[in-house]
Amino acid sequence: MTAQKTGGMEVLELRAFTDNYIWLLLNPDENHCAAVDPGDAQPVIDWLNEHPQWTLSDVLITHHHHDHVGGIDELKQQYNVRVIGPAQAPIPGLDLVVGDSDEIKVLGRTVQVIAVPGHTLDHVAFYLPGDQILFSGDTLFAAGCGRLFEGTAGQMLDSLERLAALPDATRVYCAHEYTLGNLHFAQAVEPDNKQIADRLLEVESTRARGACTLPSAIGLEKATNPFLRTSVPEVQAASQNHAPASITTPAACLQSLREWKNGF
Ligand code: ZN
Ligand code: FE
Repeated sequence: MTAQKTGGMEVLELRAFTDNYIWLLLNPDENHCAAVDPGDAQPVIDWLNEHPQWTLSDVLITHHHHDHVGGIDELKQQYNVRVIGPAQAPIPGLDLVVGDSDEIKVLGRTVQVIAVPGHTLDHVAFYLPGDQILFSGDTLFAAGCGRLFEGTAGQMLDSLERLAALPDATRVYCAHEYTLGNLHFAQAVEPDNKQIADRLLEVESTRARGACTLPSAIGLEKATNPFLRTSVPEVQAASQNHAPASITTPAACLQSLREWKNGF
């Protein structure tokens, strides 16, 4: 008997706190799953109790903030899991420390680690090239990016450019449901961008149903996310109105957009 090949990995959303997503990455071939950024253990435990045929084998951590790591201890107590995450910041309970360009095996799949400093200095993204799935944490959001708590605008720009270089069809799973607010901001930056206007309408109806607006896709982000469009003249011109000095570089544009968005 030959093994049945399925359509590949599946991803499903678990909700935590007010707007966090804990992504469950599922390999239906072996009924093993991994939780990404479990800031709270309880939604993961509840799902596993309701789906006893599944085994949680791994936990992936993108960065050290509490809403991403808070559930590690309890998951380690209850399950035989391997916790994978970045060095630099102290994350208790890591079993495997990863850094830029590492390739690891998770659920039988290759996962590439991409260092994406900016929101924090330790931040990494996880990319599954075989399935074109990206877990971007608090770096690349749908139509936005994370706040600059530890890194510089230049670091965030480099990080976003690395993610933008992934295939357009890459599905983007970020850690928060911020899409609607981000699109209102994107529209303020580019009032004449038709794709932003169309996406805003779609996301408004998705949120009106209380549904999840993710995953996004890299191609869609390149067309509608102002933080990936800091080389576009219209975006630089709009950010100029909110900047103290003349904007001549994409990094200066990103810095200005980020400060504008903080007060938006
Ligand atoms: Zn964070
Ligand atoms: Fe967060």
